[in-house]
Amino acid sequence: MNTIASKIDPNVIAFALDQSYSAVLMTDAYAGEGGHRIVFVNQAFLQMSGYSEEELLGKNQRILQGPATNPEVIERLRQCVREGSYFQGSTVNCRKDGRPYTVEWSISAVRNPAGEITHFVSLQQDISSLVAAQKTNKLFAQVLNATDDGVLITDSTGTIEFANKAFENITGYGLTDVLGRNPRLLKSGEQDENFYRDIWSTLKKGESFKGTFVNRSKSHELIYCDETITPLMDEHNTITHYVSIFRDETTRVLEEQKFRDMVRFDALTCVLTRAAGEQALEKAYMHYRSCDLPLSIAMVDADHFKQVNDTWGHNAGDAVLKTIASAMVATLRANDTVIRWGGEEFLLVFAGCSLDQGLRLAERCRHAVQSKPHDNVGVTTVSIGVGELQNNEALADLIERVDQALYRAKNLGRNRTEISVSQT
Ligand code: GH3
Ligand code: MG
Ligand code: MG
Repeated sequence: MNTIASKIDPNVIAFALDQSYSAVLMTDAYAGEGGHRIVFVNQAFLQMSGYSEEELLGKNQRILQGPATNPEVIERLRQCVREGSYFQGSTVNCRKDGRPYTVEWSISAVRNPAGEITHFVSLQQDISSLVAAQKTNKLFAQVLNATDDGVLITDSTGTIEFANKAFENITGYGLTDVLGRNPRLLKSGEQDENFYRDIWSTLKKGESFKGTFVNRSKSHELIYCDETITPLMDEHNTITHYVSIFRDETTRVLEEQKFRDMVRFDALTCVLTRAAGEQALEKAYMHYRSCDLPLSIAMVDADHFKQVNDTWGHNAGDAVLKTIASAMVATLRANDTVIRWGGEEFLLVFAGCSLDQGLRLAERCRHAVQSKPHDNVGVTTVSIGVGELQNNEALADLIERVDQALYRAKNLGRNRTEISVSQT
């Protein structure tokens, strides 16, 4: 035969087979009682099966079968052997000491130059640890999919390798949507670059990062996630993966936001409440006192409002208050502030405005209110007192001054704006 093997010293082939790390077994093609007989086993095979050479030679391979051996696989094997065709399969065999092992093996027929089958050669591999690892992996995946917390695993470059069922429930992205991609696909744009820089500097040090992420779901909705990201390291302390475990806190965060807004904004007029307004005013006061820009405020009071209520009823009065507030909000700039200071009194904060500029804005508000007659009540008017913050002036003193200016406006006939010129 002109094969490659025929050109090699047969002793070399025998040594090679014997020393191969793969288990090798050969049988003859004996068709009599007891079937094929084992004629060769190498060292790796002896190690895998726990038998000695003497115990195996001359026996049939079925000596290796155990209670967990799959009869269907054996039947398929027999069929292949009968036909002389190639067989490949795996099943559970038994070592001499009774311990089962999962083996993956192939069988090829060996033919003589006349084409007759004289032997069968079988290459076998113990894949028990591989099977055990697969089982463990499957179990871990089942455990991760059973939890309500989202789990996302990336490699060290941030490429997503795993996402569990809860991740899909929370974000709307399925595993196939995210595999191979970067978690930045969840970015909502609501958090600045410093937030993400902090995360990376913590993780790169090998420390866990905990925080609330404002993410965006597949359907573009904002989702608030309390998240812990932990770097995983190998035995050389090199980061191999990042594991992120997170909880969807969107409902809680939105409820808290709603509650904060309820406290912050007046239910009737939608401008700031007195409490929130006082804070905003204090903030503006601190800011403008420390820089070179001016700050003006105005106190606004609806004229003859008792009459409105007495004539048209309290509900109509409420509607008029809404109209007054919205007319002023629409007139002012985005960085000005409208506060519902009391029943039908509003305090306006004119950011960065001198007395002249404040007066102009106040007058614009007064005209806006007057030019928006209410359906039933008709034209309503307001009186206004304006003042500019002086050097070293306390906030309470400024408020007192604009109150007095307002009082003057009332006394001088209402529907007018009076300025408070500081004596200091
Ligand atoms: P003046 O021009 O002097 O300000 O006269 P006025 O009638 O407006 O007098 P004052 O400011 O003292 O009275 C305020 C009235 O506003 C008393 C109160 O019944 C009414 N008011 C206060 N808050 C509300 C509210 O939320 N809704 C309604 N409908 N009325 C309110
Ligand atoms: Mg009043
Ligand atoms: Mg009034």
